[in-house]
Amino acid sequence: MTFPLHDVLLLLKQEVQAYRVPVVDLIAVQTNDPFKILMATLLSARTKDEVTAAAVRRLFARAGTVEELSRLTTEELEQLIYPVGFYRNKARFLRKLPAVLQEQFNGAVPQDIDSLLTLPGVGRKTANLVLAVAFGKPAICVDTHVHRLMNIWGVVKTETPLQTEMALQQILPESSWAELNAILVAFGQGTCTPVRPHCDCCLIANQCPRNGVTPRAVKAVNKEMDMQQATDKKFISWNVNGVRASLKNGLLDVLRDFDADIVALQEIKAQPEQLPASLQNIDGYHAFWNPAKKKGYAGTAVLSKTAPLQIWYGLDEPRFDEEGRVLTLEFSDFYFINVYAPNAQPELKRLAFKQDFNLALFAYMDRLARSKSLVLCGDLNVAHKEIDLTNPKANVNNPGFSRQERAWMDSITEAGYIDTFRKFDASPGRYTWWSYRFNARAKNIGWRIDYFIVDESSDARVVDAAIHEEVAGSDHCPVSINFR
Ligand code: SF4
Repeated sequence: MTFPLHDVLLLLKQEVQAYRVPVVDLIAVQTNDPFKILMATLLSARTKDEVTAAAVRRLFARAGTVEELSRLTTEELEQLIYPVGFYRNKARFLRKLPAVLQEQFNGAVPQDIDSLLTLPGVGRKTANLVLAVAFGKPAICVDTHVHRLMNIWGVVKTETPLQTEMALQQILPESSWAELNAILVAFGQGTCTPVRPHCDCCLIANQCPRNGVTPRAVKAVNKEMDMQQATDKKFISWNVNGVRASLKNGLLDVLRDFDADIVALQEIKAQPEQLPASLQNIDGYHAFWNPAKKKGYAGTAVLSKTAPLQIWYGLDEPRFDEEGRVLTLEFSDFYFINVYAPNAQPELKRLAFKQDFNLALFAYMDRLARSKSLVLCGDLNVAHKEIDLTNPKANVNNPGFSRQERAWMDSITEAGYIDTFRKFDASPGRYTWWSYRFNARAKNIGWRIDYFIVDESSDARVVDAAIHEEVAGSDHCPVSINFR
């Protein structure tokens, strides 16, 4: 069935009138000034709408014109726009903007894409949005929502926003280009969210092919359950395979969409001082970094909305701890352990090291679980059972599926620890890691090696567990539990 794009866009245009208006469009309604719209668009990238709106208010109060902006220093700009994402970079771009506008464009915002792309900090997405919103010109701003939705609907089959933009230019009439972004951003934020879209209440559910989508689970609702859910905490674990790379791939958007109480990251491959401010100061979170001594290698981090009582870095064993493998936060009624287990390496060259690590971790878990609930998560670099990888026969005794590594997982579960995902889902084909080679993710040739494990006495506290295959940005996907 061909997706009825034209009819759907008309329908959604009506639908999103009741939704929150994206911040740049809101600012455009309030001011016809292309210069202010350009500044707001620059600030809005990788930033929550509420944060952008507040920063824009502060900035406009001091710099409503090109000349006023030219009088502000970079430090003043940083203070005015903080905490928008990448505020230091954005302050530098704003600092350079007046000179470029005055010298090259007579102090006015240019009205063609090539000229806009010469402005500091302006990429294709920003340029198209300014053309469409400030000047009402035919331009398709393809951000994460437009790119995602067009692929979910099968309108395009593209890898990058630029490919999507080019494809849409061939498909859509020019008259619909300018408003496309506002409609799909509102719909993407309100209904078809990047994580667990609300297919159960979507008005185009019957037409949508839902390519690559895992909808949110809908449970029977009653008042008592509502009350209980209000106290549930959401925990996320994700091997990001380099936190700086994942930042470029939308990490902050993913964190915002999950809105988790605790986020555990593995394989951060960065020292805290190498991180941009947007990561060091994530709105609403306390951040704890446990990097490896060796630069660009391994490492763990935890973000928590609640300040922990105590933090422990490592297992008190230097050869493991210098790789930043374990990070523990203690809260009033549970311990939270984030683990990035070593890889046994080809020909099992590092198996002995990994087995020592596993034994030390097991003993550590047992020590902590004696006093309160224990939640352990992370990339354990082992698929436990045959159901947990696509090709078990071909991988017998390969790293991650060796007899010894699987035996350790057996010992954990036999001791009463619970692999929470399997508590809720016994189906095959549910994986958390796919090789970058051979188009493995698209073919779902994968391994389930990322876990949330709890101690036996905490079984009833785990009310949901999930794998979020739909979240891209790493060769692993996030896993989560809801913990009561
Ligand atoms: S049915 Fe689901 S995937 Fe399709 S548009 Fe609606 S929310 Fe998105």
